[in-house]
Amino acid sequence: MTKQPHRPDRTSQHPFRRETVAVTAGRPDRVVDAPLNPPVVFASTYIGAHDVSAAEIGYGRYGNPTWQALEQAIGALEGGRALTFASGMAAAHAVLELMSPGTVVVIPHNCYLGVAEAVDRRAARYDWQVRKVNVADAAEVLAAAAGADLVWIESPTNPTIEVADLPALGRDLSAETLFVVDNTFATPLLQRPLESGADIVLHSATKLLSGHSDVLLGALVTRLDDGKTFEALDAVRRSLGAAPGPMEAYLALRGLRTLPLRLAQAQASAQILAERLVGHKHVHRVRFPGLATDPGHDVARRTMSGFGSLISIDLADAKTAEAFVEGCSLWGFATSLGGVESTMERRRRWSGELLSVPEGLVRMSVGIEHVEDLWADLARALDQLS
Ligand code: PLP
Repeated sequence: MTKQPHRPDRTSQHPFRRETVAVTAGRPDRVVDAPLNPPVVFASTYIGAHDVSAAEIGYGRYGNPTWQALEQAIGALEGGRALTFASGMAAAHAVLELMSPGTVVVIPHNCYLGVAEAVDRRAARYDWQVRKVNVADAAEVLAAAAGADLVWIESPTNPTIEVADLPALGRDLSAETLFVVDNTFATPLLQRPLESGADIVLHSATKLLSGHSDVLLGALVTRLDDGKTFEALDAVRRSLGAAPGPMEAYLALRGLRTLPLRLAQAQASAQILAERLVGHKHVHRVRFPGLATDPGHDVARRTMSGFGSLISIDLADAKTAEAFVEGCSLWGFATSLGGVESTMERRRRWSGELLSVPEGLVRMSVGIEHVEDLWADLARALDQLS
């Protein structure tokens, strides 16, 4: 059964810019006394129909008007059809659930550790062959993709901030291969993987899309002309029950409305901070594609419309990195990223973090505080290191 959107999305018929779509998509119909914002609908069940296909929602695990409003907005931003999930990991598992025993999967050497673990677990159980690649090397990815069923790319990567050439991959990957792109770090404002040939875009909407560190939420977006993949993922969501709560969907949509403003501020600050961090005696390496010297700079300039708000720096070792994080007071010591508040952490403090991530790597998520306050805090903590 093809599920229709809850209400027609008028924004998709207009050539609005992404910034405008983020504000307008998914609003209720413009009729007298309609609320301007989609209300939060708390419902586990809905009035039924004897012909079940006549009902649009039916049951709380199958749909919810508040998720649908958010799905319209995320779908309009990515240029596809979105399904929301209880978390980014729930969305990731929904994709993996589509794959059969014996799957050949290409994934990044460096990517979000939860995804790497999920793939490794399934590989062990279902006899999958896992080919790990450097996403920044398109030739290496394409060579590994020969005969693969699934190519899973994260770009920029977490936490090493490597950049993949998505248009090059989309152009040369076989149509038989399911091409998935985790767009959490870039957001649809900076890159739209479906336009580069991806079949599925994944978001941890917990991060920049929601933006206030108060929501767990995931999303998958499929191409408008690919009803089959959309239906398959919808069926998995129904069956797994990995659905978002309505309050989370409401908060995520409210956060999404200001994404363009937050991202513009955060990435302008990230550029300034990255440039100042280069050359500091305690900073061995700055990983940020906005730096002309960064290995991902040229690809990011060609394929993205901004460099994002995540920076990673390499300090001498674990002890130095921990002293640095402790020495900051404005920057929150916290995992996760993409909130209005700047946060940082030494990634290898997590026992599951990939061993290819240096012990002294600190991932920094730039928020919307004043850049000079952020720099003063960083500079003081760095200068205190021995
Ligand atoms: N993808 C990336 C790139 C992430 O950084 C994360 C979480 O940090 C996830 C997926 C998983 O998302 P969630 O924490 O919302 O389950």
